[in-house]
Formats: sequence, C-alpha cells, structure tokens
Amino acid sequence: MSVFEVGSLHVPAGELRHGRLTAATSASGQVVSVPVSIMHGAEPGPVLLVTGATHGTEITGTRTLLKLIARIDPARLRGTLISVPVTNPLAFDRATYASPEDGIHLGMPCYWPSDPAGSPTLRIGAQVRSLFDVATHYIDLHNNAEPAVPMSMEFAAQCSSPEVRQVQRAMAEAFGVTPVLMTDPEDGTAEKVGSVDGQPAAASSAHGIPGLMVELLDEHGHQGYEAGVRGVLNVMSKLGMLEEPVAPQLVERLQGSFTYHGVLTSRESGVLFPVCDPGTVMEQGSVVAHIVGMDGSVLEEVKMPVTGFVWAFLTTAPGGGSFAVPEGHAVGFVAAADA
Ligand SMILES: [Zn+2]
Repeated sequence: MSVFEVGSLHVPAGELRHGRLTAATSASGQVVSVPVSIMHGAEPGPVLLVTGATHGTEITGTRTLLKLIARIDPARLRGTLISVPVTNPLAFDRATYASPEDGIHLGMPCYWPSDPAGSPTLRIGAQVRSLFDVATHYIDLHNNAEPAVPMSMEFAAQCSSPEVRQVQRAMAEAFGVTPVLMTDPEDGTAEKVGSVDGQPAAASSAHGIPGLMVELLDEHGHQGYEAGVRGVLNVMSKLGMLEEPVAPQLVERLQGSFTYHGVLTSRESGVLFPVCDPGTVMEQGSVVAHIVGMDGSVLEEVKMPVTGFVWAFLTTAPGGGSFAVPEGHAVGFVAAADA
C-alpha cells in the first residue's frame, strides 16, 4: 500500500495522522483551518469521508468522530477513513449554525461548484471539496435537539446512477437508524432548512459518491454519539473496510419505509409543547404538539397531516433558539409511512 496523500497530508499505510486544511484568514490575520484525521489502512479498499459539524451547533458528529478513531486499529483497516470532526470551524467556534462572517452554512451548495476565491465559508468548502475528490463514499453527521429520534436521509433522485443509489441504500440499512427518503415538498422546507439538492450528501451522490446524511441526537443525549459510532462502524463493515459484521443499532429502527412529507407549521403563536414521542408512528390527525398561550390554554393542536412519524421539533433558529414560536413557524419534521 502506498502513502495516501491529500493536500499537504501524507499518511503511510497502517497509520493515523492528524492535520489541518488551511482555508481562510480572518480580518486580524488569524488562520482558519479545518481539522482532518486520516486513517490509512494496511490494505487497499474504499475511501470513506465522514463529516461532523457541517452546521456549527451540531456537535454530536464531532464527538462521534473523536470517539470513532480510537475504536479502529489502522493495521486492520482496509481502505481509508477521512474524519473531519469540525467541517465549519467558523460556525463551530461561535456555536452558530452558519458562519457569522457571511451567513453561509455548509448544508448549502459549497462543494459543487466550489469557490476557492469566495467568502470565508466558501473557501472552507473548497478545501473540504479536495477530500471529496479522493473519497469513494460519504457520511454527513448532523443532529437534532431532543425530543427527537435518530434517522438517516436518503437522496434517491439525486443519485448519478442506479449503482450509486444501490450503495446509498446499503449504507442506510447498515447504519441502522430509520431511513427516510428525502424529497423537496412545496411547503417552505427549502426556505426554512435548505433545499434537498444543496445537502452535501445529495450533492456527492449526484457526483458519483454515494452519500448518506444522518440526524443523530444532540450532545446531551449520551446515545447520540454512541449510535453514531455504531452506525459508521456498521457502514465500514458493510463496505468491507472492517472484518467485524454489521451489529445491531443501539436505537430502534422503525419497520416499513418512509418518505419525507414536510414541515409542520404553527398557525398560532405561543410555546410549543410536544405531546408525542418522536419516532412513534401515528395516524393522520393525531395530535403531536400543543401551542400554549400565556394564560396556559391550548391555542392550537398541531396534528399529523399524514400517517407517519415526527423525527424532531424545530426551534425558532436552526440549531439554537427555543420553543417560543411565532405564527406560521415550522415546528417539526414529518416522515410519511409509504403505503
Ligand atoms: Zn444540520
């Protein structure tokens, strides 16, 4: 096995190396760089890129990756694991969803095309793109705040070929949390959380690199990162990078197949009180949350528009904010059970 090279990083076979990709310079001259750990196996195989903190407030993926590399012996690895625990350091350092410098987050199209001469976040995207250029498979680790249930997002329509789609499916099954087929519904989802096409895992799948996006639980959920570690190890087993067989997930996977339906939207303003357990399949019309007024009365019952499940509730700002919701606010994500 030869040395694995990307940028200024050189990793001999059977070794783990930590480095940084220099991306931008702040106004005061501080260098902004992306941390990268590369584990290059003793034998050839797939090159799996895994990113955490694509959104700066979502650090369950960060914790997952920092734990994951300690669980793998590079001497027993086939192929190469590229771990990016903090994909957007500008947002991560300030605990913001997007970068304060330019308002851009990496769930927006920043890799295809990449813009090395653009604003700071686009320059970060251009550096991370160099990792996609050597990767054969991709996992993007995000998380929702509790109450939520872990799930994965499949981007079928974006896949560049049936083979890419087949591998994406296999990765979702191996990861082991409930997969949801993603679409772009006409309900304002794109304005609220970005369009499906812009998601890095959708964009990589469109460029021949099977990609899976996973929503774990937030950093307060101990199982959040453990399910992430188990899921990535499972995908590595499925791809033949590890000898260990695919193991059961630590969290429940719902039976059946599901397609993204859209966001729940509040009619009234008040405080959102979730009244269901995310990840429970509910009939159309079931009440999933109350909007409660300042006199304690229930102003609105938020109901399931279809039979399916809610995987997370949304706060007033992505990755932050609270359940104090204005009128017409997106308050939850719904997956519909396929007939
Ligand atoms: Zn996210």
